[in-house]
This record gives sequence, structure tokens and C-alpha cells, in this order.
Amino acid sequence: MSGDRTADLVNRDLRHLWHPFTQHSVWADDEPLVIDRAEGMYLYDTDGKAYLDGVSSLWVTVHGHRVPEIDAAVRAQLDRLDHATFLGLTHEPGIELAELLLATAPAGLNRVFYAGDGSSAVEAALKMAFQAQAQRGENRPLFVHVAEGYHGDTLGAVSVGGIELFHSTYRPILLETRAVSSPGLLEPGQTRTDRAAAVLAELDALLDAEGDRVCAVVIEPLVQAAGGMLTHHASFVRGVRAACDRSGALMVVDEVATGIGRTGRMWAVEHAGVSPDLLTCGKGLTGGYLPLSAVLAREDVYAAFLAAPAAARTFFHGHSYTANPLCCAAAIANLRLMAERETVAHAARVGERIGELMKGLEGYDGVREIRRIGTMTGIEVEAVGERTGFAVCQAARKQGVWVRPLGDVVVLMPPLAIGDEDLALLCSVVDESVRAVVR
Ligand SMILES: *Cc1c(COP(=O)(O)O)cnc(C)c1O
Repeated sequence: MSGDRTADLVNRDLRHLWHPFTQHSVWADDEPLVIDRAEGMYLYDTDGKAYLDGVSSLWVTVHGHRVPEIDAAVRAQLDRLDHATFLGLTHEPGIELAELLLATAPAGLNRVFYAGDGSSAVEAALKMAFQAQAQRGENRPLFVHVAEGYHGDTLGAVSVGGIELFHSTYRPILLETRAVSSPGLLEPGQTRTDRAAAVLAELDALLDAEGDRVCAVVIEPLVQAAGGMLTHHASFVRGVRAACDRSGALMVVDEVATGIGRTGRMWAVEHAGVSPDLLTCGKGLTGGYLPLSAVLAREDVYAAFLAAPAAARTFFHGHSYTANPLCCAAAIANLRLMAERETVAHAARVGERIGELMKGLEGYDGVREIRRIGTMTGIEVEAVGERTGFAVCQAARKQGVWVRPLGDVVVLMPPLAIGDEDLALLCSVVDESVRAVVR
């Protein structure tokens, strides 16, 4: 009986497992969903029930699940090379993926450093920035970041994070940083352009005072995703570029969430027409198959590490599984399919369609704001009781749609390749669920 199997798996889970971002005092009461298999846009639980994957399995899935071309690429790679270290060796999948990625990258980015998760890419970027500055003779120990920002959960990434709920506990053990306000949190009457200008003025004041100690400014371009899908005007990104140029700080853009087509462009910085010094990507890189991330760097940052071995200017950083060939093979197949199928243009249309389909909810009393850039959508609902966003998602789950909230922001972020019918289902179920929970 599948019901017995489900109960057995849940019991074993409850006995031994500790899930990420999960309060285990309520985990059992929330009726854990045990996923058994997946196909296209759908996840299937151990009782055979289908769920539309409305958040791309936490923002990673691109073409859907079990895509024949990506499956075949990983299988073919398995038959050739499972793994070889990238420390002192190289291999074709690692080389080819770098070429494919850079062919899409903002101007000036010319080097690829691989890591595993988004957090580890951010970690590498922070250390690269600090070391590059130091090796150019600059003493710059300070990082500037943005309130409500999120860059992952390792300590360097948490240092440049700005979500109090997640990050404040760790403040005593973090790097020295300065924060500017979020360009996506508007004061009453403020437009997004006004807000961008106000936060840029803060940044200028900060850099005037301590700019010669600032190593890098770290931002999520266009959308502060985990902060609640807070969107800002592209002029903010342009202003950060200009401020970095004036002060000698490096511009680090974290495109782990926004990159690989999510905003309707390959990279969110394209909306602003600027190039950063360092860019991190992850999440959608392998199409949602395997953990792989990367830092893309300008050649002049890379050049700061070149010297005789004895000079100890090497980037002493790497991982056991850096550039794992199976991960690279999945990423290559993903990027090739994206080019063939014009997935980024499709994603832009999906975004527009989400905008149209959610129009009806925009005027609804229980909705504070709907924010969206490309396919990245946040529906901020009025709190009714303790976990309103979660209650909306539980209601959607009953109707076969899987979404996960950020507090009271219900997130929609379907796989980029989603078709019209599934998208209509996603939007109508979420619309109904919001109305059912927030009256
Ligand atoms: C998710 C995310 C990360 C962290 O990536 P992981 O793969 O979860 O470590 C970093 N930066 C941004 C902007 C993210 O959204």
C-alpha cells in the first residue's frame, strides 16, 4: 500500500532528519510531502498525487524535470568520466561550459571559477575581491551590502546578508560590513526611481567617509529575491557601478537567483546595461539537476593573482568537487537547450503572462502588493494570524500546486519553459488560495 509506504517514510524522516530552513516543532503537523518522482512541470508524491512545481524546486528548474536531453547528457558523461579533480587537472566539460557561459556573459567578464552552491560562489567572490585588492596594494577589509539582501548561508555570505530574521543571530561572528537601505522598500509616496536615488545618496555618503577601506559593494541586481521579491529600478544598479568606479571598490553582483534567464534576460544586469567586476551564478545553471555554481570575473581581477609561485598570490581556494564533470555536462545540456529553444525570450513572455493572470488579485483587499520582474513574482498578502503565506501555500497544495512562501510573500517562480495551460493553472489556484485564506 502506498499509504503505508508514505507513513513509514515520514516516520523515518521524523526520527533522523534535520531539514533546511525548517522549524521541526511543526514539521510533522504540517504533513510532510514525500516526493517520489517528477516529470516535466510536475512532482509526484508517494501516493501518486501530482503537484505543479510552482517555485521551480526552490528557483532552480529551467526546462522542467527529467528533460530527455539533459538526462542523456548526464548518462553519456557517466560513461566517460565521473569525476576528476580540477586542482591541477582539467577536462572538456569544464572547458566547454566556461566557453558557453562566457558567450552569454556581460561584456568584460572573461574568467570562470567554479564552485558548488550559490553560497560557495559568493564566498569565493568575496575572497577574490579582498585578495585582488590586497595584491594591488590596497588595504580594504570592508564590504558594503544592502538591507534585505540574501547571498547564502555560509559565514561570508551571511556577513553581506541583510535579512534580520536569518542573519542577526550571527552578527557577533561575521566580517566587518556596512549596509545601505534596500532600494526595494519604498517609503510612502516614493517611486522606485526616487528610492534608487535616495539609497545611492546613502552609498555615496558611505563611500565618501570610508571608501578607501571598501573592498567591494555586493548587490542582488533588480530583485532582492529571498528578501521578499523586492524589486528596484535599474538606475540603482547603474548608480552602484558609478559609485564603485569612483571609489575603487569592486562591484559584485549576485545573480544566483536572477541569472540564467529568470528576469526575462539571461542576466539581470542586462536590464541596466552595466557590467560588474565579479558575477556569481548558480541555481538554474544545471537546469535544476545538480549543484554547480560559478564566479565570472573580469580579466583585470584575475590578473591581480598572477605572479611567480613563490610570491604566494595564488587564489588558495577550491573544493573537492570543483567542476564536477556530471554537473558540467548537465549545465552544458541546459545552456544548449536554452539557446535552441530561445528559453530566455519564452521566460520574458511567461513573465508578462503572469502579470496578466494576476491582475485580478492586484485590486484585492487582502493583497498589499504584487511585485514581479520576468518570472520572479512575489504576492505580498495581509497577515491574518501567524503564518499567512504558509496557509496560502497549504491551500494551493490541496489543489495540486506546490509553492513555498517567504513569510507573507507568496512566491511564484515556475520553470522558465512552463506552457500556457500549466501557467494558467498555477495562477488561478494561487489566486483562489489567497482569496480563501485572506478574507
Ligand atoms: C539562493 C541564493 C544564494 C545561495 O545559493 P545556495 O545554492 O542556496 O547556496 C545566493 N544568492 C542568492 C541571490 C540566492 O538567491
